[in-house]
Amino acid sequence: MEIINNPTFIQNKIILEKSNNKKIGFVPTMGALHKGHKKLLTQARKENDIVVLSIYVNPTQFNDPLDFQKYPKTWEDDIALANDAQVDYIFAPDQNSLYPDNYRYFIDENKNSQILCGAFRPGHFKGMMTIVLKLFQIIPCHRAYFGEKDFQQLQLIKDMVNSFFIPVQIVSVETVREESGLALSSRNSRLSVEDKKLASQIHLQLSQNKELSSIKKALEDMGFEVEYVEEMWGRKLIAAYLNGVRLIDNVPVK
Ligand code: AMP
Repeated sequence: MEIINNPTFIQNKIILEKSNNKKIGFVPTMGALHKGHKKLLTQARKENDIVVLSIYVNPTQFNDPLDFQKYPKTWEDDIALANDAQVDYIFAPDQNSLYPDNYRYFIDENKNSQILCGAFRPGHFKGMMTIVLKLFQIIPCHRAYFGEKDFQQLQLIKDMVNSFFIPVQIVSVETVREESGLALSSRNSRLSVEDKKLASQIHLQLSQNKELSSIKKALEDMGFEVEYVEEMWGRKLIAAYLNGVRLIDNVPVK
């Protein structure tokens, strides 16, 4: 496994691998890796010759500076997990090297980026799509893997790839959960033991055959600050805060 910081250096490596007919699978992440990320890597390992993992906490997709500051960093553990998943390359750019243009955005907002999470996190999806586009340029992969956990993100990336004719196959991977049903997330490490138990109510409530407004009310009564519970794309989607930690989840509509 090779760890590379320089964008041009890894870009040349990947171009060389492709010229040798290697299929490239790419898993973009913000680090603080868990079993959800591992599932993406395992699937990429099965379906490609070369697996590339990127670790980069992208500042432009954080509308809340405190959330950016507090984003967990577990570098040593991430390397161990990547080794275990038989990753070939880790791309871990320096904070500023992906924005040589003074943080210029490229992708604009559209209808789907301004609803659900987009309505509550202005600029988040613009930042996310811009960084994913940059990463696709640096790592010109055959397949890129994204989790259903971030369902709106997945839809927007599929839209972007279609709109801009980007030659990448987007592969979606089912959400990995704790036994309690809580969706694994890097942000879960910021929950207390008690809150982690309570947080499993999100999935429990969402999975019940209840009106969306009743789900919202039930969670609010338990102490969650619910941003939205909505139905879209054949899913029930939710975002809620629990003691300052923002959690999202979604399940298929039955
Ligand atoms: P992140 O590092 O949180 O930006 O996530 C990187 C990728 O991992 C995204 O495609 C996420 O959707 C995916 N991911 C995060 N949590 C999970 C999970 N619990 N199950 C499956 N995929 C996940």
